Amino acid sequence: MAKHQFQTEVNQLLNLIVHSLYSHKEIFLRELISNSSDALDKLKYLTLTDEEFKSLPFDPRIDVEFTEDGDEKTLTVRDTGIGMNSEELVESLGTIAKSGTREFLGKLTGDTRKDSNLIGQFGVGFYSVFMVADKAEVISRKAGEEKAWKWISDGKGEFEITEAERDTQGTTVILHLGEEGREYASRWQIEQVVKKYSNHIAFPIFLHYTRTEYDDKGKEKGKTPTTEQINSAAALWKRPKAEITEEEYREFYKTISHDTEDPLFYLHTRAEGTLEYTTLFFVPKNAPFDMYQVDYRPGVKLYVKRVFITDDEKELMPTYLRFVRGIIDSEDLPLNVSREILQQNRIMAKIRESSVKKILTEFARVAQEEPEKWLEFIKEFNRPLKEGLYSDYGNREQLLELVRFKSTKAEGWTSLAEYKERMLPDQKAIYYITGDNDSTLRNSPLLEAYRRKDIEVLVMSEDVDELVIPMVGTYKETELKAVNRSDAGEDLKEKKDKKKDKELQPVIDRMKKVLGDQVKDVVTSVRLADSPSCIVVDESDPTMKMAQMMKAMGNLNMPEVKPILEINPDHAIVLRMKDLEADDRFADAAFLLLDQALLVEGAPVKDPAEFVKRLNRVMETAL
Ligand code: ADP
Repeated sequence: MAKHQFQTEVNQLLNLIVHSLYSHKEIFLRELISNSSDALDKLKYLTLTDEEFKSLPFDPRIDVEFTEDGDEKTLTVRDTGIGMNSEELVESLGTIAKSGTREFLGKLTGDTRKDSNLIGQFGVGFYSVFMVADKAEVISRKAGEEKAWKWISDGKGEFEITEAERDTQGTTVILHLGEEGREYASRWQIEQVVKKYSNHIAFPIFLHYTRTEYDDKGKEKGKTPTTEQINSAAALWKRPKAEITEEEYREFYKTISHDTEDPLFYLHTRAEGTLEYTTLFFVPKNAPFDMYQVDYRPGVKLYVKRVFITDDEKELMPTYLRFVRGIIDSEDLPLNVSREILQQNRIMAKIRESSVKKILTEFARVAQEEPEKWLEFIKEFNRPLKEGLYSDYGNREQLLELVRFKSTKAEGWTSLAEYKERMLPDQKAIYYITGDNDSTLRNSPLLEAYRRKDIEVLVMSEDVDELVIPMVGTYKETELKAVNRSDAGEDLKEKKDKKKDKELQPVIDRMKKVLGDQVKDVVTSVRLADSPSCIVVDESDPTMKMAQMMKAMGNLNMPEVKPILEINPDHAIVLRMKDLEADDRFADAAFLLLDQALLVEGAPVKDPAEFVKRLNRVMETAL
């Protein structure tokens, strides 16, 4: 007998499950049946593709049984699947293999409702049995191995593994139901839960119970042990669409995604012709907890002629659609398709390509016909879609219609199409400002003149914007221009500007001399109203933020980007500088104009100590 401790994360998760999911405790049965179904899928695949397993007897089924012996109630789920050996029992039922578990646990709030959503996204799996059981036993024998093993635990910190007996390969889970779970030792309860969540499981699920017979007078005649199949055992996605109810789609989604919420929408299609395949895709309401992790778990499962092949293949979907859940079932791929084959397979590539098209078309339909739902989508998935602008050149046009932006003119979110409709009659470009923080951006001096001229500017504070939007370049032949670029002033120029330029030339020349190589240039600004100065970058240079990002990503050869300082020809400070004779005071003013422009952009000043000294000198004379 060997005692083992649960990994710390398992203890934390167990605690959480019991506290946040008790109102959904029936899902333990869904999780057990789903595990059994996975185990049968795995073995089925091996018996079809692997010489070693071809000769094994394989009678795929799941059996559910319950017993009542006085106070002692048990519920048993038994399968003839692939099984686990002792190492696998320790590994699978003692640790959490999922990456990002720690981050996930860190995100929990203590608010039961929110946490139960999060935990749904995470997937609770086997450990959910401890919502209903005081003690759980798992007896398992791995296919192709002689020995069987028993795992036993009360879910309180540790478990034991001992040798055991089992006639055939597969797994038996015996739950000793506690106070919370007694109600599940009932034919009606089990049937109801299985019908609700597991009806579509592709293997037969049998329920064992004792039927009581009565005679004509209603007197008990005898008891007969009975076995009855309680699911339809048809792969849901293969059934005709018209026959599947909304409810069935929703429950199916929950089973494959382990989400506790309904999906936002779904898309079920069948392709016939040169290639035959069925796809059923779901978009969750909430972003999967690992969406921003490099090692996220893919959400689409691949089947070939209803045989499960893999749920761990990121190539099935482009990365930017990694939040999509669902199934691809191909009639044309070979069963023993390996990962290498899959990645270069032309059939797979075609299925993927047309799946993406279908998904994007459905997105467009929702955006058009159900704008409220689309906003719910945008709240969670705008960012990954923007990644698509970058990575999926072929679908960029379509993606540009789908992404949404914040703006100086629209409440909430706006599309590029809506922006275009609002453009002023002679406005030449779509303007945008990028940076870290929505409110800093909205207060940026760079926007002053746009506001004065009533020109709308898109406010982009997501980190991908900086990388993606400059690459996009144009939307329906209208250029997208960053307001912090030197060439974005086109729509702001006025006739009288020429004259002002001339008058200010001596100040500009003098500032250039003083600031030296700290700036690329000093120019009169057309975009300022209330602020004396701002910085922009040359149209050919990366933005300051981009340069910072490149450096952070390890690109040390990144040349330093020098800002162009723009000064406001109408501002009192600038006007006063025209007549300022003292060189030292002029220099203080010049540097303070540069440094304040950097500060409002959230960029660091070059020499903070020097900045403070200058500021104090100016204050001394002013006060
Ligand atoms: P998940 O199913 O999300 O991986 P679980 O906690 O439900 O998480 O299960 C953990 C692992 O235990 C599974 O991935 C599987 O390897 C193994 N497992 C659980 N139940 C069974 C079973 N009935 N037969 C074979 N393996 C199982």
